[in-house]
Amino acid sequence: MPCKKCLKEPVFALISGEKLCRKCFNSYFERKIRKCIRQYGLIEKGDRIAVAISGGKDSSVLLSLLSGITRQMKNIEIFAILIDEGIRGYRPFTKKDAVNLCKKLGIKLYVYSFKKEFGMDLDRMVKKLKKGPCTICGIFRRYLLNKAARELRANKMAFGHNADDEAQSVVMNLFRSNNDAAARLGVVNGIKKDARFIPRIKPMYFMLEKEITAYAFINGISGKFVECPYAGSAYRGEIRNMLNDFELRHPGTKAGILSSFLETLPLLKENFMKEGGIGFCRKCGEPTSGEECMACRLLKELHS
Ligand code: SF4
Ligand SMILES: [Zn+2]
Ligand SMILES: [Zn+2]
Repeated sequence: MPCKKCLKEPVFALISGEKLCRKCFNSYFERKIRKCIRQYGLIEKGDRIAVAISGGKDSSVLLSLLSGITRQMKNIEIFAILIDEGIRGYRPFTKKDAVNLCKKLGIKLYVYSFKKEFGMDLDRMVKKLKKGPCTICGIFRRYLLNKAARELRANKMAFGHNADDEAQSVVMNLFRSNNDAAARLGVVNGIKKDARFIPRIKPMYFMLEKEITAYAFINGISGKFVECPYAGSAYRGEIRNMLNDFELRHPGTKAGILSSFLETLPLLKENFMKEGGIGFCRKCGEPTSGEECMACRLLKELHS
């Protein structure tokens, strides 16, 4: 069956079953992202946006798109930050891809590493601490990204999170009854407004992972797209498989989870966002809900 819009040869089938050619798929994809940016006011005049990139396909597609979109807008600056956690067999390849992409797009890239910042690679931390690799990685990466973006004078940070990531987080928080964490999800992640916390925006919130994969392939946004060796060991991996299975049998499942979640999000924020409770670490000054942030606590364990 030809492309529904222009009768050319189709390259992608949407959830609705509608088939689109290369050009129509690209315009569907870009239109949906522009709509998300407009609807949620993600990009505004005067913004200096740090795009968190990993060298993976999601953040590579995001950076390519934002580079095009912001070039047409006045008074917007973007640059990229990559966190090198120190993961053997993964990070050196993806870092190389990120460097190449930034060079191709003419975007300045800043690299911050766990080794330099915390005195140790993630691979070594995993051996020393009795915690899952993704837990350790997440705590230190969040810490370092916020610090880097602030040092580089960004007023927003953009992430390549997609509909699959977000649907997984929604379900994980539901299964674990973690309403505090759920209240921090959404297209714009916000704890209280404070110059020390850089707000996070997710322009690809409504895009499915398979759409992003197709967009990367069709538009030659290439790379090795190697998977982290620690991925899949986590609880998230099980939720991902379950949702993928459901989506296959009941197309639209992930979009349904997101739309119902977004309807309840204002209530979650009202009831579970500890606005007053979020302070700043007495040791390093980064945002935290306790007296000392998780990164400082882990650092103490690491170097004890
Ligand atoms: S899979 Fe886990 S360890 Fe690997 S980069 Fe992601 S969060 Fe870090
Ligand atoms: Zn077409
Ligand atoms: Zn701290």
